[in-house]
Amino acid sequence: MNAFSYRAPETLEEALTLLHEHGEDAKILAGGTALIIMMKQRLVLPDVLISLDRVRGLDFVAQEDGVLRLGGLLTHRAAELASPVRTRVPVLADTYHHVATIRIRNMATVAGSLAHADPNQDPPATLLALDAQVRLTSMQGQRDVALADFFTDYYETIMQPDELLTEVRVPLPQPHTGSAYCKFLPRSADDYATVGVAATVRVNPATGACEDCRIAMGSVGVTPLRAPAAENLLRGQQRTDALLQEAAAAAQQVTDPISDTRGSADYKRAMAGVFVRRALAQAWQQALASV
Ligand SMILES: Cc1cc2nc3c(=O)[nH]c(=O)nc-3n(C[C@H](O)[C@H](O)[C@H](O)COP(=O)(O)OP(=O)(O)OC[C@H]3O[C@@H](n4cnc5c(N)ncnc54)[C@H](O)[C@@H]3O)c2cc1C
Repeated sequence: MNAFSYRAPETLEEALTLLHEHGEDAKILAGGTALIIMMKQRLVLPDVLISLDRVRGLDFVAQEDGVLRLGGLLTHRAAELASPVRTRVPVLADTYHHVATIRIRNMATVAGSLAHADPNQDPPATLLALDAQVRLTSMQGQRDVALADFFTDYYETIMQPDELLTEVRVPLPQPHTGSAYCKFLPRSADDYATVGVAATVRVNPATGACEDCRIAMGSVGVTPLRAPAAENLLRGQQRTDALLQEAAAAAQQVTDPISDTRGSADYKRAMAGVFVRRALAQAWQQALASV
């Protein structure tokens, strides 16, 4: 690692002041599960490391005005186990449960996994399918940004160097909505996904037809991807195997995976189709069961 100065503010205000002072020379350290590896690989060489370890009050779970609010410093394990997450947005608890191992989940934070912006991670796809927002805070104030507008490239987001990701805001699903996250893990249970697909489906309780749906895919592009053409095919339709097949083919069209140790680009594209179909089928089934 390079030499750096280590700062450990005790309040959010102190952390924001340090970020303001040091800007691009500083890096935030939350759980450290991604950043420390990147520093050891000398991919990131901060002059100043600002640890959030001593900052209190940013690991909350709250519900307010139809929104589930997760503090940025909440760990994956705490999010996975929190009763409001499990009961109100179970697909999110399930997604955090499928990240790596308990050891990693006990350290990795909700904000860190989004700020890191690795498209192979699991929570970004599910949060995108849930239409989540992130709250970014700086000394200038705060702004809420749709996750759909947050990621720009591999490891790149719209966050400014003086901003902290302080909260993730998830709209509570409407009645008669089902959701699923399907992670394809051909190597080991604690690996990153070869493909990860999150889907939500809201049905008309009288007819069972799809009223609205969202599909988001991880590991198949430089950012997590939505599949708007596939979603349009489903709205207003009754569920049939042929329709799910058609939607899966449309979703494949937006993928642009790279070949790596988890599979060739062609294989990942094929698996994206399979897992879009599975996630939609599960979400639709769950929605119908709620009627
Ligand atoms: C062995 C291993 C296996 C893994 N497997 C999976 C997996 O299966 N699925 C998966 O989804 N992920 C997986 N991960 C990735 C893991 O989820 C991420 O490393 C983790 O989410 C990052 O969170 P963190 O709190 O540790 O962030 P850190 O490592 O502390 O920080 C990551 C980046 O985010 C920035 N940052 C952190 N917090 C904030 C904030 N509040 N505001 C602004 N910027 C911030 C940091 O400056 C840094 O650039 C794995 C990681 C490891 C080491």
